[in-house]
Amino acid sequence: MSIEAGESAASRLGARLRRELGELLLPQRCIACSRFGAALHDGCVGLLTAAGGTRCTRCWRPGAGTWCERCAAGGTQAPAFDGLRAPFRFEGLARRAVLEAKFRRVTALLPPLAREAAASVPAEWTPEAVVPVPLHPARERRRGFNQAEHIARTVAEVLALPERTDLVRRVRETPPQATLDAVRRERNLGDAFAAHGPVPPRLLLVDDVTTTGATLGAVAATLRAAGAEQVWALALARED
Ligand SMILES: [Zn+2]
Ligand SMILES: [Zn+2]
Repeated sequence: MSIEAGESAASRLGARLRRELGELLLPQRCIACSRFGAALHDGCVGLLTAAGGTRCTRCWRPGAGTWCERCAAGGTQAPAFDGLRAPFRFEGLARRAVLEAKFRRVTALLPPLAREAAASVPAEWTPEAVVPVPLHPARERRRGFNQAEHIARTVAEVLALPERTDLVRRVRETPPQATLDAVRRERNLGDAFAAHGPVPPRLLLVDDVTTTGATLGAVAATLRAAGAEQVWALALARED
């Protein structure tokens, strides 16, 4: 064995030992049932609060049957996406899962939630590709990853579609939406995104959480301006 091969074998062994030791010290424990074996068991996803009740079938706002007033009014009142679904309410365990994934990098929490989100896609939606909402490159460098990209990867696998991270970029760093009221949220996002064509006609946008739908709407509008004909939106959780 050459010295080089010996060194790389030793460093692989070192990495494996560190990983296995890490798992021994920090075994994954389900945030829903507290049993060991997974960050969140697939079977425990049902313990999270569903975004149930009567909802606008377009923007997923609670309260209204079929379409809410804003969606029915159309024009600039209505969101730029053709439909939105989010299987969970952003509270309790769902909120904790999303925040721990985002800020503590427990990304193992995301696939079970993303599979549930993929299962909530209505049969009449016919996207050709899955597009994660992009982070600004500077923010992605600071955080180390884009949570929406992880979610979109699982959604794309379940729906047997390609994940496209090349179609839209975030060109302006904006204050986090959570720090702003509804009117400022809309303004905050003006020109924040830029499409990079050619853009397929039918797309499914993916993000972790949605509140007013402003971010998903802004990305959908950008993709439409670049030639997309139908854009649907999917999030793990909705803040009602
Ligand atoms: Zn569990
Ligand atoms: Zn609506």
